[in-house]
Amino acid sequence: MKLSEIYGNNTASEGNSHNPAISFEVFPPKKGEEEFGILLDELNQLKRFNPALVSLTYGAGGNNNSSMKLVELLNRDFNVMPHFTCVCNDRAGVELHIKEIETMGINNILALRGDIPQDKSLCKTDFKHANELIEFIKAKTDLSIGCAGYPEGHIESLSIADDIQNLKKKVDAGAAAIYTQLFFDNEKFFSYIEAVRKIGINVPIIAGLMPVISTKQIERMTSMAKISIPKKLSEGLEKYKDSPSALKEFGIEFGTQQCCGLIEQGVQGLHFYTLNKSYSTAKILENIL
Ligand code: FAD
Repeated sequence: MKLSEIYGNNTASEGNSHNPAISFEVFPPKKGEEEFGILLDELNQLKRFNPALVSLTYGAGGNNNSSMKLVELLNRDFNVMPHFTCVCNDRAGVELHIKEIETMGINNILALRGDIPQDKSLCKTDFKHANELIEFIKAKTDLSIGCAGYPEGHIESLSIADDIQNLKKKVDAGAAAIYTQLFFDNEKFFSYIEAVRKIGINVPIIAGLMPVISTKQIERMTSMAKISIPKKLSEGLEKYKDSPSALKEFGIEFGTQQCCGLIEQGVQGLHFYTLNKSYSTAKILENIL
């Protein structure tokens, strides 16, 4: 099923409570094929929530050696949306990759630039930004294309307004849906939607959510990206810092309330960054559906 069929083509539902499409993000396990079974077991725990799609990251810390094999495996049981980054890739390599994905019968792809390596000389790329990759994929395939959005601004961007202008380039190039960076403050997301719609971007905006499972995880995420921690979350992190199980339960409660707030405002999709674990995501979904 393509992105437009999953989310619909318009934004009419925004502002009105309704059932959002659910999706899950996973990454290729560290030990590669040896751990595919564990990942599939975790995903099978989430199957009962009828995910509209499962997305699989590319690069970014996972073990990508056998990731096409994993894409193929996931594709047997789920509507899989592989991510793809163009950084350090040339046109020929990109074309080969996207054609391979299309040949596998996959409908969707999440097209990203990726993080630029510290030593830029190590990597030659034919694509400077994600909008160029999206334009290329659009020209070469029938894949439906998702792109990334940043409710609090991308880490390199000068301002949110500037970042949103760049987001428009991705949508104008053919992106059919925007998947956001994870956020914990719904108000930031609502302001973002307002600003995005104001400049004429009308594709679905899917909320990126990460269940809180440890203090370390939150510290790592907030050091890498612009992500605000609301007072209620920082208080919980402090209160339960010495009790991992209580923190996990707090994370489920926090995530449940966050999702309820989003659903109330008619969010079109909830995309869970599962970190390859089903427990907290499943509990949140049990609470909200
Ligand atoms: P771009 O859209 O190119 O934006 C990067 C920066 O350049 C922004 O500051 C933007 O404002 C600016 N910009 C964009 N277009 C232009 C333009 N035409 N001219 C001038 N400036 C411009 N990383 C991975 O390595 N693997 C993954 O699987 C992965 N999955 C992700 C999934 C989601 C939902 C999200 C939100 C991020 C993901 N990332 C992943 C991280 C992502 O690769 C990084 O955030 C990366 O630094 C930017 O990628 P992008 O596609 O947003 O880039």
